Amino acid sequence: MSIYLDHAATTPLSERAFEAMKPYFCDVFGNPNSQHVFGRDAAKAVGEARQTIASLIGAKTGEVYFTSCGTEADNWAIKGAAMQYRDKGKHLITTQIEHPAVYTTCKQLEKLGFEVTYLPVDNEGFVSCEDFEKAIRDDTILASVMFANNEIGTVEPIKQLAEIAHRHGVIFHTDAVQATGAIRYDVKELGVDMLSMSAHKFYGPKGVGALYLRNGLKMEKFITGGEQERAHRGGTTNTPGVVGLAEALKEALETLEEDNAHIRSMRDHFVEGVLNEIDDIYFNGAKDFSKRLPNNANFSFRFIEGESILFSLDLAGISASSGSACSSGSLEPSRTLLAIGVPVGTAHGSIRFTFGKHNTMQEVDYTLDQLVRIVGRLRAMSPLYNKH
Ligand SMILES: *Cc1c(COP(=O)(O)O)cnc(C)c1O
Repeated sequence: MSIYLDHAATTPLSERAFEAMKPYFCDVFGNPNSQHVFGRDAAKAVGEARQTIASLIGAKTGEVYFTSCGTEADNWAIKGAAMQYRDKGKHLITTQIEHPAVYTTCKQLEKLGFEVTYLPVDNEGFVSCEDFEKAIRDDTILASVMFANNEIGTVEPIKQLAEIAHRHGVIFHTDAVQATGAIRYDVKELGVDMLSMSAHKFYGPKGVGALYLRNGLKMEKFITGGEQERAHRGGTTNTPGVVGLAEALKEALETLEEDNAHIRSMRDHFVEGVLNEIDDIYFNGAKDFSKRLPNNANFSFRFIEGESILFSLDLAGISASSGSACSSGSLEPSRTLLAIGVPVGTAHGSIRFTFGKHNTMQEVDYTLDQLVRIVGRLRAMSPLYNKH
């Protein structure tokens, strides 16, 4: 048995997206920039994909730029804006719980002479609008706050934050990699200037993402090279990838309500079961489930190591994650969990379960049984647990 409960790390490619992509590997293989029929056919597919994505997020076609992943979109948004507006100011605002794609990019900009405020969050992972406004200075040029957190699922008040940023003339970017495909949004209504997404987080292919860049926002070129992406991002376009991105997003939004209802019912049942059957745990992230991603459950199990739980779950055929996939393998406790006040020792005992549309209630019940057994066994062996 193999149960996949790590949909925040990646999702399987949907059949529909796969079918849509197929013609663009071998048959319609032209370079979209070539001035002949092979090129024109590929360019047509790329143009249609751009148009589809734009209409799905409430953008204009010319505001959607393709990238090689969510990480690249985040890098471009932040470094591009920092470089473009560096004469106006050197100050950036972000949060302590960003994905490494944003966090380490800001760290790198600090080395280049920028100053960055990393806003704290409350014990459920929410950024405060008051703290955000207070952090804005005369020389603040850019703020980047994630739409939804990849570890604890907390959904940030993006619309309010973007409004505050604009009141002070600050450009606002959001990393919507976890939110896209799970939360319906419209970029104009949200009021953001830039937004990042990544196809493989919503049943699209890996290695392709997009950046929404509001019309009129001047941005430094990111990858210098050819004239692709209106000369902002050189490199031959990944035609099957962008076609797959568009199809996956279309499908995700068509079935969003029913998928979320199914995913939410599994998550809620799981959370209730874990809280009922296991003591000495923290349930991390937003307690108000209307402000939490429908697929996310994150727990800290006191007195035992997350890695041991994960290993035992894996033996039982269950794939989950400790901390974020990007930082697992490192011994550093999760930055996000520390930011919401989980003690260092306890943060080490944390597991994230992220459900997907192909999971079943039977899988959830099996996982619950296994988890209760595993936590009980590990605690029975833990000197920390036996002393408490
Ligand atoms: C996965 C993820 C990314 C990185 O996207 P890639 O396409 O894997 O580079 C960025 N931000 C968040 C919140 C993510 O969950």
